[in-house]
Amino acid sequence: MRFAVPLILYGDRPQREAFLPAVAAGEMRGAWALTEVEGGSHTRDLRTRARRVADGFTLTGEKAFVFNGPDADGILVAAAQEERTGAFLLTPPLEGMTAVRESWTVGARGASIGTLRFQACRLSPGARLGGEDGPGKEDLERLPHGRLLMAGYSLGVGQACLEAAIRHGRERMVGGRPIVRFQEVHFKIADMQVGVDVARQLALRAAWLVDRGKGSATEASVAKLFASETVALCAQQCAQIYGGQSVLQGGRADRLWRDSRVAMVAGGTAEMHRFLIASELLAGRA
Ligand SMILES: Cc1cc2nc3c(=O)[nH]c(=O)nc-3n(C[C@H](O)[C@H](O)[C@H](O)COP(=O)(O)OP(=O)(O)OC[C@H]3O[C@@H](n4cnc5c(N)ncnc54)[C@H](O)[C@@H]3O)c2cc1C
Repeated sequence: MRFAVPLILYGDRPQREAFLPAVAAGEMRGAWALTEVEGGSHTRDLRTRARRVADGFTLTGEKAFVFNGPDADGILVAAAQEERTGAFLLTPPLEGMTAVRESWTVGARGASIGTLRFQACRLSPGARLGGEDGPGKEDLERLPHGRLLMAGYSLGVGQACLEAAIRHGRERMVGGRPIVRFQEVHFKIADMQVGVDVARQLALRAAWLVDRGKGSATEASVAKLFASETVALCAQQCAQIYGGQSVLQGGRADRLWRDSRVAMVAGGTAEMHRFLIASELLAGRA
């Protein structure tokens, strides 16, 4: 989504044709590379630089934590170009580019997350997204879709926590009774249901606004922030219902707790979303 949506919105015809049909058919994997090791949450001063040369561009710099990075067939890289910023489309493998998979992440292990290094990596003249008048990094960062993606991820993990907790609570017998009979377990299940339900409504509202062309990054931030904190709570409650089993590596509660960690950071940390929401409100834009 973070690769394809910018292409749909800003790509020129050859760029869209080169990637979108294959991405839509599930034959191509895309990645969005913004984060840098030195910058982290502060993406303002990009160190990755694109330089215009006679036959295209050269790209130099390093990107961290890129989802799908080591396995991507197409990558959109945010970089500074002279006084501006922009995004550049690459099709690996490329001379001057190396991709290194991070050691195993605690959760979301189905995806590969990696570091990308560019050393005077040569790009074609048509590599800049949308051409010379293409979007800046800020235009792409403001798109709500990446936040919605992480709201959806969080909802999925939160719902899985709820279902696992109910299943385990019904099966686990203590003192001759299934533990779901205890009020303390009831309350945890109720709290999880309320959280997941509200998170779903917020995500649906934000997605509905996007579909009508009225969506803003603020509603998407609200949805992402709430869903990511809800999934952290759900994973904790689920683990508590699993009792001692929750600390066994490789168990259901262990996996869900590990997957919940990813939601708190990927797509922007909870702290940065709070900052963004308040800034928009205080500036009268939300
Ligand atoms: C699983 C996963 C997938 C990811 N996928 C991608 C991807 O596909 N593409 C991509 O470009 N990036 C990706 N990222 C990177 C992600 O966006 C960053 O990890 C995130 O923005 C935080 O940056 P950081 O890890 O450097 O943390 P830091 O910026 O070092 O932050 C550390 C802590 O300090 C807090 N902090 C930092 N600055 C402030 C501030 N100004 N005010 C208050 N608190 C602050 C943070 O909230 C956090 O709690 C991914 C990360 C993960 C974990």
